[in-house]
Amino acid sequence: MNLREKIKNIPKTELHCHIDGSLRPSTIIDLLIKNNLPLPISNLDKVEDYFKINGDCSSLKEYLSKFDFPIKVMQKKEELYRVTFELLEDAKKDGISYIELRFAPYFHTVKGLKPEEVVEAVLSAMKDAENKFNIYSGLILCAMRHESSSKAVDVINLAKKYIKSGVAAVDLAGNESDFPPEIHREAFDIAYETGLNITIHAGETGICENIMKSINILHASRIGHGIFAYKNQKTLDYLVQNQIPLEMCPKSNLDTKAVKSYRDHPIKTYLENGLRVTLNTDNRTVSNINLVDEYMNLVNILGFTENQIFQIIKNGISSSFCSENLKNKLIKEFNKSL
Ligand SMILES: [Zn+2]
Repeated sequence: MNLREKIKNIPKTELHCHIDGSLRPSTIIDLLIKNNLPLPISNLDKVEDYFKINGDCSSLKEYLSKFDFPIKVMQKKEELYRVTFELLEDAKKDGISYIELRFAPYFHTVKGLKPEEVVEAVLSAMKDAENKFNIYSGLILCAMRHESSSKAVDVINLAKKYIKSGVAAVDLAGNESDFPPEIHREAFDIAYETGLNITIHAGETGICENIMKSINILHASRIGHGIFAYKNQKTLDYLVQNQIPLEMCPKSNLDTKAVKSYRDHPIKTYLENGLRVTLNTDNRTVSNINLVDEYMNLVNILGFTENQIFQIIKNGISSSFCSENLKNKLIKEFNKSL
């Protein structure tokens, strides 16, 4: 068995995957047509490619523009159900046994859905996919940095309602440069006091200080990306000593120009220096990546050894927000597969 097949067959986790960045292009097209909405370009042969970054992404603006069409077709319960169910089917094909999906629920209330209906449609697809594909999942609700602090409180209160029925954690996402973590202190104080797990996008776009701020002010127990930790030795030391998991997504970081080339990504140095690194896709469609390909990039471009790959897979299991029972089951399945 070659290494690719071996990696594919090992039961894995994925902890950082945005639903709206991971719709099947064929589904976006189908739903745009069903809603009588225009396609982004008229050339039917090229329209599927429009939703992905192909080759060099010109800017963060171009990257973010790829989310406009998916969000337009995630405004009905059946649409949210379909895209979630299909995403879980795709994740299973990567050999993923447990995945944490995330999205910003209020993006999906444009046509009148209540936020509860949005969350319940996604949770219902997760439950059905678990039964059909034997893939476990948890949902992470994202508050958005550019929105008001009271909107972030609304997201946390929404998450509280589903803490025992599928919502695994809350997150803060969006423009990191202009909206520092402390703006949303109140919301994440509530999340922490409620016992919600907290992960925060931080250190993704050059601002290293946001990593420690997210831990100290927003109570993050995991960090989304954290690539710029290397800018501050104290931050690196803290992450190692406290074994704070980093949800790393190298292909996405390449697309958003957070790193100049894949070879420049710090993931290997971080692993070798004792940071608790996990590997994720971020946005499967927009970044045109799946988890097996991302593992193979680590091997082929960054020279990861098999043992380093196994370490990252184990880190994914131990860093997940699932129950201890499920973690033990995942660890057993991992050990059995080697
Ligand atoms: Zn992300």
